[in-house]
Amino acid sequence: MGMRVGLGTDIHRLTSGHGLPLGGVLVACPFAAVADSDGDVLLHAVVDALLGAMGWGDIGERYPASAVRKGEASARFVQEVLAEMAAVGAAPVQLDCIINLETPRLGTVKTAIRESLAGLLRLEPGRVNVKAKTAEGLDSVGRSEAVSAQVVAQVEVP
Ligand code: MG
Repeated sequence: MGMRVGLGTDIHRLTSGHGLPLGGVLVACPFAAVADSDGDVLLHAVVDALLGAMGWGDIGERYPASAVRKGEASARFVQEVLAEMAAVGAAPVQLDCIINLETPRLGTVKTAIRESLAGLLRLEPGRVNVKAKTAEGLDSVGRSEAVSAQVVAQVEVP
C-alpha cells in the first residue's frame, strides 16, 4: 500500500440562524452558514482533502450547485467519495482538521465533532484530530462574518 496526502480548505459566509453544522454535528448558535447544501464547512474541507489525496480534483467540480439539494446533509458528499475510494482499494487513515470560528467557542463540542467525523470516515477517533481556533477579532472569521476549515488527510492507496 502507498500513502498519499491531501489538503482541503473551505469558507462559508455566516448569516443569522439557529445553528452551524460542523463535521456532522449541529452546533447551537445564533448563526447559519450560507450555502447550497447544509453548509458544513468542515465536511466540505474533508471532501477536498480526500479528493486531493486521490488526485481527483475538487468538490466544486463534483458537486456544482446544480447537483446539490438545498440544505441537504453534506455527509452524502463524504460517503460518495469514500465509496469511490473503496472501489479502487483506497481508504483514509488519518485526518487533522482546523475549524476557524470566532464564536461560539467549540471547546465543549470538539469531541463530539471528532467522534462524528471518525464515524463517518470509519476511523478510530484517535486518528481524527479536530482543532478549533478563533481569529482574535481579525478578518472575516474574527468579525463573525465567516466560518472556515482546513483539513489534511492521509490516505492509503493500493
Ligand atoms: Mg463549502
